[in-house]
Amino acid sequence: MRFNTKLLHGGFPLDAFGSTLPPVYQASAFAHESAEKLEQIFQNTAPGFAYTRISNPTAAAFEKRVSIIEGGVDAVSCASGMAAVAMALLNILQNGDEIISGSGLFGGTLDLLDDLSAFGVKTVFLREVTAENVEKSITPSTRAVFAELIGNPRLDVVDIQAVAAVAERRGIPLIIDSTTATAALIQPLKQGAHIVVHSSSKYINGSGDAISGVIVDGGRFNWDFDKFTALQNFRHMRKLAYTARLRQDIWRNFGACIAPQNAYLNCLGLETLGLRMERLCENALGLAAFLAGNAALTDVNYPGLEKSPYKPLVDRQMEGGLAGAILTMRAGSKEKAFRLINALRYAKIATNIGDVRTLVIHPASTIYARAPEAQKQAAGVYDDLIRVSVGLEDLEDLKEDFARAVEKITESRDL
Ligand SMILES: *Cc1c(COP(=O)(O)O)cnc(C)c1O
Repeated sequence: MRFNTKLLHGGFPLDAFGSTLPPVYQASAFAHESAEKLEQIFQNTAPGFAYTRISNPTAAAFEKRVSIIEGGVDAVSCASGMAAVAMALLNILQNGDEIISGSGLFGGTLDLLDDLSAFGVKTVFLREVTAENVEKSITPSTRAVFAELIGNPRLDVVDIQAVAAVAERRGIPLIIDSTTATAALIQPLKQGAHIVVHSSSKYINGSGDAISGVIVDGGRFNWDFDKFTALQNFRHMRKLAYTARLRQDIWRNFGACIAPQNAYLNCLGLETLGLRMERLCENALGLAAFLAGNAALTDVNYPGLEKSPYKPLVDRQMEGGLAGAILTMRAGSKEKAFRLINALRYAKIATNIGDVRTLVIHPASTIYARAPEAQKQAAGVYDDLIRVSVGLEDLEDLKEDFARAVEKITESRDL
């Protein structure tokens, strides 16, 4: 099966009534015919469902499909993208461990890494996640290399093959947050990454109607159980130890499960992921190229533009050379940025990405409001930066809308 066929036919078996979509199993608990049967389910010696925090048929259907399109061995769905990032890291980390991470991260993830320092987990931030920089930053305490692809909002692109090769040689897993790229543009596990996480609230869901996340395990990493002591109880699972511990331990005990209704909405969204990403990326490239020619804006940033330093990597690494559907621009000052945002007719002023509608935000005053200045700089968040999550509107309408809004900031003398 190729990608778009997998989106429709990969995974879930038909239920008793032949439902073409996975039914919503909106139940907390599942009853069984005997105490023996429930005992077996709890001991993983018989298949079946016991309690929705541990597993649920609708969630399982979503997990199966995500796992198939990412080329993983298993996927674990979560209550949010943040839950997925947190669980993906906490599953292998302990007091005294270090993470190497890109600095151009989603604001919530930066806050999370800060939270983890209270538990003795330190993060070493790299301006650019390159093989060379990662190699130099590895210490005996390093337990994970974490990066976003495509970085939100700095829109940097990691060379997965090169970074994964270094991480693997040094016995450290590479965890990629692939929220903004999605499996339609790249399947990081196939390029050598070991774990993939998504905020499925974004492009996977597609319509901005449910918060959720997912962790996909490539099942290829050779865990050294003397080094990753958190996984020791799952030694017998060998390369599957990571997901085994998530399911039976950390993810289950943190109560990070997805809601069945949200798993269903994501299954629905997944069906059109390929189609949506194609058009969204086309619109984003069209809008970025159009705005790049506008003298009132500086630094129109989109990794698919010829002038972007990431363009060669995008062409080599991403499916069809597609560069995602997020772009940023600088308006000259915070006041001008606000004025431009307020003048837009179609772009909704909202803190989200991956919606079918175009969304716009001023990151410095919202998502990064709590970040220290140095952290904002490293994340590429300037006071005049505007982030656009391009939607499925007609490109000509978007161009007209932005052109008119930019005029608004240029005609004002007093700013
Ligand atoms: C939104 C986002 C998250 C967090 O996801 P939620 O579903 O909002 O919890 C994590 N990483 C990236 C790249 C995101 O864009």
